[in-house]
Amino acid sequence: MKALQYRTIGSAPEVVTVPDPEPGPGQVLLKVTAAGVCHSDIAVMEWPAESFPYALPLTLGHEGVGTVAALGAGVTGVSEGEAVAVYGPWGCGTCAKCAQGKENYCLRAADLGINPPGLGSPGSMAEYMLVDDVRHLVPLGGLDPVAAVPLTDAGLTPYHAIKRSLPKLVPSSTAVVIGTGGLGHVAIQLLRALTPARVVALDVSEEKLELARKVGAHEVFPSDARAADAVRELTGGIGAEAVFDFVGVAPTVATAGKVAAVEGDVTIVGIGGAPLPVGFGHLPFEVSVTAPYWGSRGELDEVLALARSGAVSVHTETYSLDDAPLAYERLHAGKINGRAVILP
Ligand code: NAD
Ligand code: ZN
Repeated sequence: MKALQYRTIGSAPEVVTVPDPEPGPGQVLLKVTAAGVCHSDIAVMEWPAESFPYALPLTLGHEGVGTVAALGAGVTGVSEGEAVAVYGPWGCGTCAKCAQGKENYCLRAADLGINPPGLGSPGSMAEYMLVDDVRHLVPLGGLDPVAAVPLTDAGLTPYHAIKRSLPKLVPSSTAVVIGTGGLGHVAIQLLRALTPARVVALDVSEEKLELARKVGAHEVFPSDARAADAVRELTGGIGAEAVFDFVGVAPTVATAGKVAAVEGDVTIVGIGGAPLPVGFGHLPFEVSVTAPYWGSRGELDEVLALARSGAVSVHTETYSLDDAPLAYERLHAGKINGRAVILP
């Protein structure tokens, strides 16, 4: 079969032919119908050889949707031909976090060498993919594969982040979304669907801000040195009860800290890695700062349900597997508005 692989540190991913996978005991083989392109993959492909955590070659793709093609020995609960989404943050399934469906925070995954598809295990950017356990499959329930596949990360990750802050997003509150790309433009829709908050979007691209408005942002501002003042002014000096930073670089975390209201939440989702100092005098009083990872299995169910209700719709552009390297090039250049989806 064809697969998109990251093969050499520092080089672009390549479309190659690899053996068709066969499901072992407990595994499920999917015929992939759609695979999402995430900015995290670009970060992975920028890691230096010394700290690169996975074996190469690596088949990319941690957002996957497909139809069940074959079942390994002992698998029950799904049948061939069923359309499913893949819950990506695989865990051990039995530790205290996994028992709550929070496999994204599995206590044993690192020790056991369990990696998500596309982030260590062979991913969804291939004609077929292996899913390690049937519990990592969620029925699509009639959703279109292209529309659904970004929800497994670009939907689930902001959903998990926003859910933590729901008690603060009361009427008359403000939520700020920094970076309105793949994750950010879904975050805006989730905020609109789940909260009465005024939603303010910041981005460096005029085109992304246009999409932000289209999907429901009440106000948009360029993400520059004046952005924090603009949000403060808009909120009568109070600031935002919740700030979601989908970039995580020094200027955006600084803005996030500056626009937070007293007792507000700052959630840094983007993996830019810039620190935000928390000591006395650095932030308004009692601001909580957190950096979450992906979401729980139950939350994926909830996001898909929300999409079925029509409350969330991802802006997508599609590419063939042969053109997948081009999708990554365009994402790297900031030219994808919404989410790129590969059709293997
Ligand atoms: P994307 O490229 O689709 O979107 C990023 C957006 O940020 C773009 O619209 C870009 O114009 C904008 N941007 C860049 N610099 C900016 C700045 N200084 N101010 C404001 N906006 C700026 O990327 P994506 O796939 O949506 O991913 C977003 C981030 O989230 C990435 O860092 C990715 O690695 C990370 N991520 C984290 C998790 C997690 O679990 N924590 C999961 C998925 C993705
Ligand atoms: Zn991702």
